[in-house]
Amino acid sequence: MKNILGANDEIAAHNREHFAKCGVVVMNLMGSPGSGKTTLLEQTLAQLVGKLRVAVIEGDLFTAKDAERIDRLGVDVIQINTAGGCHLDAAMIQKACATLDLDALDLLIVENVGNLVCPAEFDIGENFKVVVLSITEGDDKPLKYPLIFKESAAAVLNKIDLLPFTNFNVQSARADLSTLHPTIKIFETSCTRGTGLDDWTAWLLEKAVRS
Ligand code: MG
Ligand code: ZN
Repeated sequence: MKNILGANDEIAAHNREHFAKCGVVVMNLMGSPGSGKTTLLEQTLAQLVGKLRVAVIEGDLFTAKDAERIDRLGVDVIQINTAGGCHLDAAMIQKACATLDLDALDLLIVENVGNLVCPAEFDIGENFKVVVLSITEGDDKPLKYPLIFKESAAAVLNKIDLLPFTNFNVQSARADLSTLHPTIKIFETSCTRGTGLDDWTAWLLEKAVRS
């Protein structure tokens, strides 16, 4: 495992250098299957198009379903199928980027494979990571999967409109997140109601300009 991560880190460092040279900021978007990553991305892109030049890399085990959703928005998208692999690694990103004109981009968003474990362990050369945690997953997840929350610049508490139907405690989730990662930025969003999306995209826009 150590050797695999070492080799990955080397390629990730190359990616990071390449991204910096091209002036593109890269976000690694992570979270469980069904947390709403792709839906959040659709809503985010709708707000960013026209303000930033954006492209997307979609990581999935199988199918191009998510990439098709992004393509419908008129945003350049590349699908990576890991054929069962539970995370994206730096080499996959390097290969996908060979077909993108990075110089013509401001922001590249990578939607990782749905998983709270190894996507956090594999550096892909991104500028920052974001984790999406939906209300229906439970407020115990930050303490159960601490690495992904420690590694992420922001946590998006998604499907906040479902709060009345669950026993998710936002205060305790926020407290656990802040204990794990004192500077983590926390957003509360609902993609079906449009709640919290302005704050989230404003933060992302600023990250894309300042990173
Ligand atoms: Mg998805
Ligand atoms: Zn994995």
